[in-house]
Amino acid sequence: MQNKRRKAGAVAAIALALMFILPACAFGPESSRNLVSSSAGEAATQDSQEEAVRSDSSGSERVAAQEGVSSVSGSSRDVLVPEPVSASADENKDAVYKTNAEVRVRTAPSTDSEIYKSLPENTEVEVKGEEDGWYQIRLDGAIYYIRKDLVTKTDGSSETAAASGGGKTVVIDPGHQAKADQSQEPVGPGSSEMKAKVTGGATGKTTGLTEYDLNLQIGLKLQTILTERGYDVVMTRTSNDVNISNSERAGIANDANAAAFIRIHANGSENSGVSGAMTICQTSSNPYNGNLYAKSHALAEDVLDNLAASAQCRKQSVWETDTMSGINWCKVPATIVEVGYLSNPEEEKKLAADDYQQKLAEGIANGVDQFFAS
Ligand SMILES: [Zn+2]
Repeated sequence: MQNKRRKAGAVAAIALALMFILPACAFGPESSRNLVSSSAGEAATQDSQEEAVRSDSSGSERVAAQEGVSSVSGSSRDVLVPEPVSASADENKDAVYKTNAEVRVRTAPSTDSEIYKSLPENTEVEVKGEEDGWYQIRLDGAIYYIRKDLVTKTDGSSETAAASGGGKTVVIDPGHQAKADQSQEPVGPGSSEMKAKVTGGATGKTTGLTEYDLNLQIGLKLQTILTERGYDVVMTRTSNDVNISNSERAGIANDANAAAFIRIHANGSENSGVSGAMTICQTSSNPYNGNLYAKSHALAEDVLDNLAASAQCRKQSVWETDTMSGINWCKVPATIVEVGYLSNPEEEKKLAADDYQQKLAEGIANGVDQFFAS
């Protein structure tokens, strides 16, 4: 404990010294406080997986693995009499539905009903209608039921695109907000060192582009791309008119049990010639979450590599620092992406352009894909 504190003190001292030579935004981006109650999120997850077949069970044991099914053991149900398909329910004929897990097919819209069979993940299903919050599906010439949240509707065009996300949760934090909140919060859990909850961010002098708005524009593009790729995306904010501290933003990622937390920022420097992108993660000796260093660093590296390749910008490096409260409060792998320098007039003009923002977002998404693939 003493050691840790001393170490933290030393780190803080070095960080303070670094502040005078490092770009403005890099030490101003975050803030937050601990919101860490994850029980609600876990409960929701369990609930939505209730009908998904656990991968570690097999055969008839699958039935037993499910809670609340008392009618299964030993009961030999009557042979199913399929109900006729009603024509009016046939309104989804153009959509393609696929199972997003191994899913139980039931004889009635209730978890108390009999399980007809299980369908593997990514099985196409023919949805005929809805009943009591379940989908009616046509299977083997009869009507059965599956839970709505265990199938995904796709249109024909995106059907061929491989879904790399696989339902993993990515939380996106567009840095800053319209109005800064200079009130203080601890730089990490239990720390006596304080930092502004959320700062104003940089502003471009050529176009007047504000960092908070740029971050949001890129964040929303990234949200679209990752959602299309099959990720579950949670945004810390979708408007500029919010007040969310950096530790609170980390709390949102913790509550969502994010597989990756992507924080989007833009940089600033007194030297207007400096350009390029960098990413940030904690050091391996971070007193709050150094155990996440390896994962966060891999995420930071994959995102930086792919962003630079996609946007064709100068690639700086992964900066390891323990000065970011929005990272220090994290219990999940996280990186800050500094997409470029608003203090560089040429880069600022690029950053303001929609198609360049799209390239940045695609590059970040490619990095997320690579992180999960390796
Ligand atoms: Zn920033």
